[in-house]
Amino acid sequence: MSFKQLDLVDPILKALDDKGYKTPTPIQEQAIPFILNRRDVIGCAQTGSGKTAAFAIPILQLIYQRENNSKSKTPIRCLVVTPTRELAIQIDDNFKAYAKHTNIRSTVIFGGVSQGEQVKAIKKGVHILTATPGRLLDLMNQGIVSLSDIKLFVLDEADRMLDMGFIHDINKLLKVIPAKRQSLFFSATMPNNIVKLANTILSNPERVEVTPVSSTVDTISQYVYYTNKKQKRDLLLHVLKDEKMESVLVFTRTKYGADKVARLLTKKGSKAAAIHGDKSQNNRQKALKAFKDGKLRVLVATDIAARGIDIDSLKYVINFEISNMPETYVHRIGRSGRAGKDGVAISFCDHTERDYVRDIHKLTGKKLTEISDHPFPQSEFDPAIEAKQNEQKSNGQHKKGQHKSNKKLAKNKPPKSKFSEKRASAAEKQNKVAEVTKPESQDNGAKHSEKKDLPKDKPPRTKKPFKKKKKGMPEGLKKKMKWPLG
Ligand code: AMP
Repeated sequence: MSFKQLDLVDPILKALDDKGYKTPTPIQEQAIPFILNRRDVIGCAQTGSGKTAAFAIPILQLIYQRENNSKSKTPIRCLVVTPTRELAIQIDDNFKAYAKHTNIRSTVIFGGVSQGEQVKAIKKGVHILTATPGRLLDLMNQGIVSLSDIKLFVLDEADRMLDMGFIHDINKLLKVIPAKRQSLFFSATMPNNIVKLANTILSNPERVEVTPVSSTVDTISQYVYYTNKKQKRDLLLHVLKDEKMESVLVFTRTKYGADKVARLLTKKGSKAAAIHGDKSQNNRQKALKAFKDGKLRVLVATDIAARGIDIDSLKYVINFEISNMPETYVHRIGRSGRAGKDGVAISFCDHTERDYVRDIHKLTGKKLTEISDHPFPQSEFDPAIEAKQNEQKSNGQHKKGQHKSNKKLAKNKPPKSKFSEKRASAAEKQNKVAEVTKPESQDNGAKHSEKKDLPKDKPPRTKKPFKKKKKGMPEGLKKKMKWPLG
């Protein structure tokens, strides 16, 4: 299918062509006709699936067909609410890129920076406002933002929104925006609380779904290095010796850890910076921009960057520490391999993280390929913990049987795995279905430049085939082109 078959108007088609988009992604193929037909939509799609364009393109078209030539100052017609500042900026960048040959204006507001420029942009008049909840409510309270003319409302990354405690803010917003509107609701996962929230927002929605969050993109090759905690730093330096790894996103568990790794890399001559919640918004944006522009080789991040951030053609993600939530692993590695491009995800696993790797296998149905040919292999017991045991032994503190579980002696134990048996078996079931329906001849494609270390065999593919929906622009749209939507 082509974008033209979705009956998009020429200025949007031209912008998509400028962006180099050749065909719609599955989520776009499914969602665009529904949205153009003014239906509410609930979408379940993994990051990197082209979700932003799936809602941004039809929203622009709906506004274009009604208001592109209006000379008067426009009221805000579309509100997109999203949990993180980075994501908000990115969504607005997308709107601007797709609207480039139209007169539709958009802007973005988020906290952590002064409001001056944001207020100026809103006062000029915009059709589309993308916002994080805190700053939005703040500007509404100041009387600067009015949502009374909203026709389209998008709640993006709803699951993340609830995780971040934004439920009260969302409820406040829902009281203010007009009840007669078209609503679009996107979430990577659909647990009960999200479905409940969706029910309060949407009216008779169409459901669009691409692949479940438990699946990783097939173009990402996934590897694991088993090593010792204390040797991860050396292992990282070893892996980064490969000069082909020009742009690498490294994930750590803690903010302190991120700073430490960034400092180490800088000391060793790599251009690196850290981003996490303790850095100012300006700092975060500066680092992210430098990374996107290729001025930084390594960006070290906590999970603040695991969702949503879209770094064009990022190929390498390294999990310096593995998350205790396997879904987080899926989101992290989803920073690479976006929109069908190749990606490589490398995880460093110490003694305390073996369970996490097992959980990833269970959730994704894919086994990470082990790289055993490296200079810092995992010893039978963690050397640091063993040294402590020996010390205790010599102090006469060693109790019988303790040597069997040297894990228990770890001082700063990592968090327990949060992957419940119930979720594990649900994921396993899902993956079994995907296995059965797996097409036979797919080319994995992703390569790793460090050929010496990496095996040639490729991880199995478990992609669920995409279900085709009706093609073309729905009839109803061509007839009615007036607000209100409904
Ligand atoms: P998203 O899932 O919205 O964050 O999009 C992931 C990436 O895919 C972004 O870099 C988009 O610019 C890109 N993208 C979105 N739609 C398409 C398309 N139809 N063809 C190629 N790239 C796309």
